[in-house]
Amino acid sequence: MTPGRPVVLGLSCGLLPPDPIRPLFKGKPLAYGEGNLSDALAGSGALPMLLPKLADLDRLAELIDVVDALVLSGGTDVSPEVYGEVALRPEWSGDPERDRYERHLIAAALAAGKPILGVCRGAQILNAALGGGLYQDIATQVEGALRHRDWDSYDDNSHTVTIDADSFLAGVYGPGALRINSVHHQAIRSLAPGFRAVATAPDGIIEALERIDDAQFLLGVQWHPEWLPSLDDPRTEPRREPLPELVTEGDTHTRSRAPGAPLFAAFIAAVAKRRDFK
Ligand code: MN
Repeated sequence: MTPGRPVVLGLSCGLLPPDPIRPLFKGKPLAYGEGNLSDALAGSGALPMLLPKLADLDRLAELIDVVDALVLSGGTDVSPEVYGEVALRPEWSGDPERDRYERHLIAAALAAGKPILGVCRGAQILNAALGGGLYQDIATQVEGALRHRDWDSYDDNSHTVTIDADSFLAGVYGPGALRINSVHHQAIRSLAPGFRAVATAPDGIIEALERIDDAQFLLGVQWHPEWLPSLDDPRTEPRREPLPELVTEGDTHTRSRAPGAPLFAAFIAAVAKRRDFK
């Protein structure tokens, strides 16, 4: 590898199955990327590349070979089958095809010792694929939970998290309180072996996990940093303390949320360091 060349990040795609009544690409399967994630990573200095799902899933390892790290994108629910449950409601049955595709990507990245960043669903599939469990639905399974998803406010919905000292995330944002967006109805219930929770919401929901050692660099955040504006965006203010411990309903102050760019920049720097060290 050439030190100094841009970090190449492979992004997992969302999948749209063949739909005979869809006007665009009628009846054809689609693999898509969410534009803000690509732009946020490119804006932080990396070269993002979408990794399409291939009929031969074993060939995904060849795609992983040409990128420096894997980014698991946000999107649909993880199928409860991945963590040994059946769907409690049909609408929580998730996307088994995407699970299979991303599990191949995860296995290939692990085998190659390449870092993984999971965003929202990405944090969930990373945990579930490696042996952890999820809540199928926070609102019905966690008593007293905050509102972690709201259709109307969408990525303006926010709450605080407490970041563990001595974590990679604390190196980015400092330990203690941070306000992030929240657009999820599933969450990590039990951690996969080797992972630790490094950010927790006031209701106890795990909002970030890490497994970082000499061999692996695995990081997942339950929020969408790509939807949090950067420091030079007039909507953003740097983190201030103290933040309120509990968020009341309707408390969606965009101006007090953390910017996402420092997290991407720190991840990209960590990827470059590991790549160039090998
Ligand atoms: Mn949340």
